[in-house]
Amino acid sequence: MDLNDLIRPNIRKLRPYATARHEYGGEARVFLDANENPFDTGLNRYPDPLQRALKQRVGELKGLPPENIFLGNGSDEAIELLLRIFCEPGRDHIITLPPTYGMYRVAADIHGAEVVEVPLNASFQPPVEAILQQADAHSKLLFLCSPNNPTGNAVEAPRVEALLRDFPGIVVVDEAYADFSGRPSWTRRLTGFQNLVVLQTFSKAWGLAGIRLGMAFAAAPLIELFNKVKPPYNLNQLTQEKALEALARPERMQQQRQALLNQRTIVQHWLMGLDVVERVYPSEANFLLVKVADADALYDYLAQQGIIVRNRSRMPGCAGCLRITIGTPEENEELFQALVRYHPETTTSQP
Ligand SMILES: *Cc1c(COP(=O)(O)O)cnc(C)c1O
Repeated sequence: MDLNDLIRPNIRKLRPYATARHEYGGEARVFLDANENPFDTGLNRYPDPLQRALKQRVGELKGLPPENIFLGNGSDEAIELLLRIFCEPGRDHIITLPPTYGMYRVAADIHGAEVVEVPLNASFQPPVEAILQQADAHSKLLFLCSPNNPTGNAVEAPRVEALLRDFPGIVVVDEAYADFSGRPSWTRRLTGFQNLVVLQTFSKAWGLAGIRLGMAFAAAPLIELFNKVKPPYNLNQLTQEKALEALARPERMQQQRQALLNQRTIVQHWLMGLDVVERVYPSEANFLLVKVADADALYDYLAQQGIIVRNRSRMPGCAGCLRITIGTPEENEELFQALVRYHPETTTSQP
């Protein structure tokens, strides 16, 4: 794979915006270069465009040098940048494997790139042959979500490997839920695959969805492209500070992660004991995909009880399914009690 053949011509030629902080790399005492307000509030200066302190800490945690790390305004920013770097509107396409995360399609639709959908097989695994048959020189991005949202299962490693080997474009492995899975991250394989991008996020296990911080890991030439195309100050100062605070106390995340894993087991068993539940799919994430007789009716009932879950019953392969996030022990108990009280024959509306 030659990265230069995959990049859009305008991006290949692009000369990125140089911030005041980019142009001067040395040490100085007086900054009169960026039209900032000089009175110190802790936030009067522009943030570091390359987030060096934060990348250093993330790199220590992940065992990767900063040149393999991009940090963005949520992993959604990384998804969007991938579209902008690789997909020529009206000409190139991405491949997604439904049922999966909705942002891949939204980003492609906004950008004007076609979406080729190759459904996951009956075990929610990528059909490798079918994907490769669909792929051509215009297949710039393949999105693998592992563990997958909304199905909760991880993609089998040999399938990822075959796709990394034979897919002609970039293979994106979205590991938003990796902290809830026991499997090794695909970041370990970055040196072997120049076309691999791994996405992770602070929005799930780290409990920081509100600060909008996502990570992309890839070989250095790919990360350079992200840096070239991203808005110069894409991560604000407050986000960088909050993330550094959280990273200084990794044991808090580990405790919450463990608590959620314990709760996942408990909720799984509760649900399996209920008549209304037909199937609880195995999960390596912080949610469960649950098949019920009438997903719309149960969704409405729970909403009436003040409990909101995600109705995924209209997604391909997910007929009758609700996606239920694992909450606190109290929230899960409340869900369970509501489900115990649910009797569809008496609660369905009269004709
Ligand atoms: C929640 C989620 C994300 C997280 O996106 P952020 O922009 O980092 O909050 C990414 N991918 C998948 C599959 C998700 O479910």
